[in-house]
Amino acid sequence: MNLVKKGKVYLIGAGPGDVELLTLKAVRALGEANVALIDDLVHREVLQFLRPGARVIEVGKRGGCKSTPQDFIERQMICYARLGYTVARVKGGDPYVFGRGGEEIEALRAAGIAAEVVNGITAGLGAATALGIPVTHRDCARGVTLITGHTKNGTQPNWAALAHSGTTLVIYMGMSHLADIADALRNAGMNGATPVALIQNATLATQHSVITSLSGAAEAAREKGIRSPAIIVIGDVVRFAGKTSAPALQSLRQVA
Ligand code: SAH
Repeated sequence: MNLVKKGKVYLIGAGPGDVELLTLKAVRALGEANVALIDDLVHREVLQFLRPGARVIEVGKRGGCKSTPQDFIERQMICYARLGYTVARVKGGDPYVFGRGGEEIEALRAAGIAAEVVNGITAGLGAATALGIPVTHRDCARGVTLITGHTKNGTQPNWAALAHSGTTLVIYMGMSHLADIADALRNAGMNGATPVALIQNATLATQHSVITSLSGAAEAAREKGIRSPAIIVIGDVVRFAGKTSAPALQSLRQVA
């Protein structure tokens, strides 16, 4: 009989930033953890839900910046779980949306570690709602497509197919290629007047955004100083921005 307590890893999505967008399940899992491995896009307010004395390990991983190698993160999770600890691997947004959650789960399963994924609100949807953009408003969108502007091997998505998809395009990690993305969509026939929202630090107090058009997007980003981490929303639904009030919680907090 094995008397050693079995460790476990929770892959937790911490949402786009606003701590009130965490799920109840995420809060419970954080409270169970002895060790937290936390990405740099995760707002530090989530640490309040860890139990006292839990160890916090920062494992930043931003494109182009000093980062923790992925295999090191995976080895740490496996190592702590084998010691019998409950590990919270805390990631921005949703763990399975551009978050390498799939790779981490594979590594954990291969090592025979029990693992559970806890959904988070993905930044693309959180950012759109923060501006009052209904991404699938049926008057003007057939759906919503989540796209990365920065692929592992530098390949491009099929911009022509996306331009004609009739879906709202929500682009992650796209700010450094914004001009090229806008050109590619326009060359594929998308109208240069198509509305675009650029949202940096969505749902946080530092949220900074601009509403522009496909042809004006790159210049608007430069002028307004919108930088990564930011979400690019492209489509007619952007016209609704500001018409529905998203920051209800903000005003509740001010009242409180
Ligand atoms: N798993 C995450 C995405 C990780 S990729 C999720 O589901 O949201 C990192 C990219 O997410 C950033 O480059 C940026 O495009 C976007 N992002 C994350 N947090 C953001 C925020 N608060 N505001 C705007 N964009 C954000």
